[in-house]
Amino acid sequence: MTLTGHQFIAGREAAPHGHLFHAFNPATGEQLEPVFGDATHAEADEALQAAESVFDTLRLATPETRAALLDAIADEITALGDALLERAHAETALPMARLTGERGRAIGQCKLFAALIREGSWADPRVDHALPDRQPLPKPDVRRVMMPIGPVVIFGASNFPFAIGVVGTDTVCALAAGCPVVVKGHPAHPGTCEMLTRAVLAALHKVGLPAGCFSLLHGKGNDIGITLVKHPLTQAVGFTGSMRGGRALMDVAAARPHPIPVYAEMGSVNPVFVLPGALKERASKVAEAYIGSVTMGVGQFCTNPAVVLGIQGEDLKQFTTDAAALAAKVAPQTMLHSGICAAYDAGTAVWQTVDGIELVAQSEAPAAANASQAACRIFTTTIDVLESNPELRREVFGPCSIITRCATLEDMVRYANGLEGQLTATIHGTEDDLRDFAPLVRALEKKVGRLIFNGFPTGIEVCPSMHHGGPYPAASHSFFTSIGTASIYRFVRPISYQGFPEAALPELLQDANPRGAMRIVDGELKR
Ligand code: NAP
Repeated sequence: MTLTGHQFIAGREAAPHGHLFHAFNPATGEQLEPVFGDATHAEADEALQAAESVFDTLRLATPETRAALLDAIADEITALGDALLERAHAETALPMARLTGERGRAIGQCKLFAALIREGSWADPRVDHALPDRQPLPKPDVRRVMMPIGPVVIFGASNFPFAIGVVGTDTVCALAAGCPVVVKGHPAHPGTCEMLTRAVLAALHKVGLPAGCFSLLHGKGNDIGITLVKHPLTQAVGFTGSMRGGRALMDVAAARPHPIPVYAEMGSVNPVFVLPGALKERASKVAEAYIGSVTMGVGQFCTNPAVVLGIQGEDLKQFTTDAAALAAKVAPQTMLHSGICAAYDAGTAVWQTVDGIELVAQSEAPAAANASQAACRIFTTTIDVLESNPELRREVFGPCSIITRCATLEDMVRYANGLEGQLTATIHGTEDDLRDFAPLVRALEKKVGRLIFNGFPTGIEVCPSMHHGGPYPAASHSFFTSIGTASIYRFVRPISYQGFPEAALPELLQDANPRGAMRIVDGELKR
């Protein structure tokens, strides 16, 4: 496929103009063709007008049609073949094996949401039949179901070009729900965005849905993103990325005459507590898994375990020695782009200036700065130093982590109580540890979206029970997840129908329940 650098506005292609930019290969510094450009305000307006004009067509299409669209997107992604992987590799330096796996996840998500909407229970249908003879007042017939909210704007993440990008969970669940999508492409991988956009447009064409259901606008710099969030036709925003970006978009959305929700997933430090029983039983094994998790994807995961806490003593020393030895052997790897690499080096350099922190290990092999490579860096400190230095509690995106010595359970509980909202927290321990450290578990429950026992937070399972979010600032709204089937609830709202005749109701609310969906009927959950 020859890339054009075009904007894709409801199927119309517009050549780049105005402020132009290129993608770069972070491993070589090579500028990649073609040239891309910042979308204009007029193009943003055109995309959202088109999205609004097809909203009824998309939302009133049968679930089978929208499911067929998702299946067709999966097929079109597959049909892009190795060319897609190669372009994404050139733009992100993510290894081909990782990209192959991520493409599988993106395809799997399409099929997961297709199955979800074919079945129908996700829409939480509720039926309360009328009781005309109820005393003292008759009860009306009331029925409730979810409906899509309208055009949504999606910002893809730099670190998941497929699974949280143009065809990522945000786009797929929005289309599944019946919301037209306008994607603001990530400027670090615009060629990948273009290829995936062509896949979505081909799928729309295949199933006979209008091209206005999907637009891609490029842009480098904040202007186009802010324009899209401010646009009066935008009904919600999905975002994965930095705290700075997510918060800026939340503020813009809140300041609109008609505020809209911004579902921002902004990352966290994901503390890991290694409790005494686990240290005694398997310190070396946990250390090995920990370094694997810290360095997976060059640490470029919002679930990266950036802080480990243990009770000081010989077992924690052994854990630290083992982790340090493994970290030293980790080869430096190229990060997603030079900006992220520079931020990583600057962030860990700040850590090193803090009194009471020690760099116990870093990759022995030198990191090639001209290839945006990051060395793994493992630090140690005490709980007092961690608690009194706010810069140590901020996420540094990359393969680094701080092993922290606590004196007592109380230290851990106090730290947990002082945490900001987190995507995850992890406990390594035995069942006895869980009993002895129950106050820690109780404290963490109030701070996180996902609590992990004897595992690591990286490598998120895409499934109905996954919650990938958490209290602010991990996410903008603690109720919603950005991964897993429940992510669809970000782009719908409930509507109740009162007194409507059967034939005029949405299918999921009709007494015949032709889809056999699970519903609450007169207070009872049944199919
Ligand atoms: P980012 O800088 O937040 O950018 C994400 C998207 O939002 C881009 O399209 C970006 O484009 C746009 N954006 C950012 N700030 C904006 C603003 N103020 N107004 C309007 N649009 C804005 O994230 P990134 O490039 O993926 O990575 C940078 C940092 O984000 C990393 O160092 C890491 O700390 C964090 N991160 C977190 C996660 C996560 O999973 N939570 C994932 C990846 C990265 P423009 O800047 O061109 O407008």
